[in-house]
Amino acid sequence: MFEYAPAPESREIVDIKPSYGLFIGGEWVDSLGEDHHKTINPASEEVLAEVAWATEADVDRAVQAARKAFATWSALPGSERAKYIFRIARIIQERSRELAVLETLDNGKPIRESRDVDLPLVAAHFFYYAGWADKLGYAGFGADPRPLGVAGQVIPWNFPLLMLAWKIAPALACGNTVVLKPAETTPLTALAFAEICRQADLPPGVVNIVTGAGETGAALVNHPGVDKVAFTGSTEVGRMIARSVAGTRKKLTLELGGKAANIVFEDAALDQAVEGIVNGIFFNQGHVCCAGSRLLVQESVADEVLDALKRRLSTLRLGDPMDKNTDIGAINSAAQLAKIRELSEAGVSEGAERWSPACPIPDRGFWFPPTVFTGVAQSHRIAREEIFGPVLSVLTFRTPAEAVEKANNTPYGLSAGVWTEKGSRILWMADRLRAGVVWANTFNRFDPTSPFGGFKESGYGREGGRHGLEAYLAV
Ligand code: NAP
Ligand code: MG
Repeated sequence: MFEYAPAPESREIVDIKPSYGLFIGGEWVDSLGEDHHKTINPASEEVLAEVAWATEADVDRAVQAARKAFATWSALPGSERAKYIFRIARIIQERSRELAVLETLDNGKPIRESRDVDLPLVAAHFFYYAGWADKLGYAGFGADPRPLGVAGQVIPWNFPLLMLAWKIAPALACGNTVVLKPAETTPLTALAFAEICRQADLPPGVVNIVTGAGETGAALVNHPGVDKVAFTGSTEVGRMIARSVAGTRKKLTLELGGKAANIVFEDAALDQAVEGIVNGIFFNQGHVCCAGSRLLVQESVADEVLDALKRRLSTLRLGDPMDKNTDIGAINSAAQLAKIRELSEAGVSEGAERWSPACPIPDRGFWFPPTVFTGVAQSHRIAREEIFGPVLSVLTFRTPAEAVEKANNTPYGLSAGVWTEKGSRILWMADRLRAGVVWANTFNRFDPTSPFGGFKESGYGREGGRHGLEAYLAV
């Protein structure tokens, strides 16, 4: 075996300010409150910057700025709005290396993923929805569909800039203005995006960014001047938001948690399936709402698949996210690490068998080794609850009908994967799986043209594709 030489990406390309204010009405402003929060690099626990925590009064200022901008922005011809969105997309491409480094520093994900997955998708989303801005009359929502007004958007920390793109690109294309709150542990790329809005000469107030914690998110969601609420995050917070929005005239989309089944049949190309299993649950440290966190493998090939999977996992490299050879980066926060540990310990105490490859863990920062549980029963917490970490629960099945039963035996319904050589079986399974996305012989593939969203407790509404426009139009 050859050793890998270190291949660190340089952090010199990003210029992180010591402290950030709020982006309201096209300007950087100080918060009206006193509270600040330090955002850290989870791989080293180094403080990166201090950000303001927006108060209710700050949120009110931002919503007013968005309201003011809405009159002119919504009156622009779609072809004019498109020019701004295309410009944003191109600036993102031009600055993609810088943004990838910033994302990796603030979030802990490997630079290889932020560079090769997150950033290309972010740009693609803006390009895609820029293309829709002057074609809304042909989207199937009437000849002249109208925007909703001010969108209040709250996003999580697992794909900070990508979730921003999923929210902001369709909103702007449809003629809405936005106030967005990034997650408290990953605000930096959203603040860089505010700079990009200025660079693109986006009219002031069309995009406003307010940083803060849950209370800031709640203030935004509950603000009476907001016409549309878009939330991505946990099912628990999603439920609270659904309750608080009920009875108002606000339109709501919720993208929540998941506990996806990745189903491997005996006739699948098993080496390819193993790559798909690894990508399904160890991509982005498993901090993926649609992660394939439950492996359902047909009993006849279970031993063979598990042996190959363990061999493959032994080659994964955990460590410095800025190293281009790293496969598994840092867990985003101490709180998330504690949650992963708690659920993994529950797996052991409920009787499942735990396995991890030999894997040195850095001294500082938040880390969790890739982990596989076998002997998992459907009643175990690790088979039912979203772990949101690099932990795979393995179950077996004998017949396709049993695979469907087990896959659907969850309160969630965001995604699923099917691995088989038979096209007819893929269609048969896809018809029966209660999941918003069903991947066939692949996993965790995203494309801006394709709608994404959940069934049941995974939320409602779709993001992406033509369907994603509906959430931002008065239809
Ligand atoms: P979270 O705790 O629900 O937080 C999501 C966002 O909501 C954060 O910005 C959070 O602020 C904010 N927030 C917290 N309490 C709030 C409240 N009462 N009112 C309004 N906003 C509030 O979720 P998370 O732990 O950051 O993210 C992980 C979850 O997101 C997982 O369950 C995952 O499955 C889900 N997710 C779903 C999708 C999807 O498309 N379906 C995509 C990605 C992630 P703070 O950061 O300050 O807490
Ligand atoms: Mg951070």
